[in-house]
Amino acid sequence: MIELSSLTVSYGETVAVDRVDLTVKTGEIMALLGPSGCGKSSLLRGIVGLEPSTGDILVDGKSVQNVPVHLRRIGMVFQEAQLFTHRDVAGNIAYGLRGLPKKEIAARVTELLALVGLEGMGERSVTTLSGGQAQRVALARSLAPRPSVLLLDEPLSALDRVLRERLSGDLREILKAAEATAVYVTHDHDEAFTVADRVGIMDFGKLLQVGTPAELLARP
Ligand code: ADP
Ligand code: ADP
Repeated sequence: MIELSSLTVSYGETVAVDRVDLTVKTGEIMALLGPSGCGKSSLLRGIVGLEPSTGDILVDGKSVQNVPVHLRRIGMVFQEAQLFTHRDVAGNIAYGLRGLPKKEIAARVTELLALVGLEGMGERSVTTLSGGQAQRVALARSLAPRPSVLLLDEPLSALDRVLRERLSGDLREILKAAEATAVYVTHDHDEAFTVADRVGIMDFGKLLQVGTPAELLARP
């Protein structure tokens, strides 16, 4: 579970995220929907610790404001997969598992390959993957260490529309099967409503309203 209270991220005079309060329950997928420049990326970067912030961030009840990025148990998936090109698919997925017994790593990688629909592809070079496949590997890599919270920053926006529509349904299934607690930001209305349990509407750094897709669609 993640609880944000009055979370604020600023760049000098620019307030990119303005006193956002938000709770995402364990196992819930929350989408944040808003136009380019409304502060979606800054919010995620603040949560994960890539930008300084004020207010508070609780992960499973503990404040992580002063915890370094790599100890926050927060995973992140970016717009571009950013895979390690010198490692194969399995090597990418295993990245966050270093230090565990080899057998355990192999079993977890096999499980994750199946989860994201890439069975048997562990030894493929990542340079031969399609965009959709690369994002599946990035997702598996982020899920591997079982983060408390997974943040996804427009993970499908580099793909074309047909692939995006297909993958957004798959993505929801994968996140649910992984029992992930996720915050998913996008400027794409259909994607937000397909992927999420609840959707938050952002503009000008503020979280304006939050509701289930049914609740939001019912409003005038
Ligand atoms: P979104 O992800 O919704 O497109 P961003 O979080 O990227 O929005 O940007 C929110 C605001 O913060 C915008 O006004 C943007 O220009 C500004 N901003 C983002 N990153 C920086 C930065 N590194 N330095 C200064 N201003 C920034
Ligand atoms: P996924 O990751 O959902 O499996 P892929 O990107 O791997 O999607 O694509 C699945 C199949 O569709 C592959 O055979 C691939 O060659 C093909 N494909 C990939 N991108 C496109 C596209 N933009 N339009 C049509 N077919 C595509």
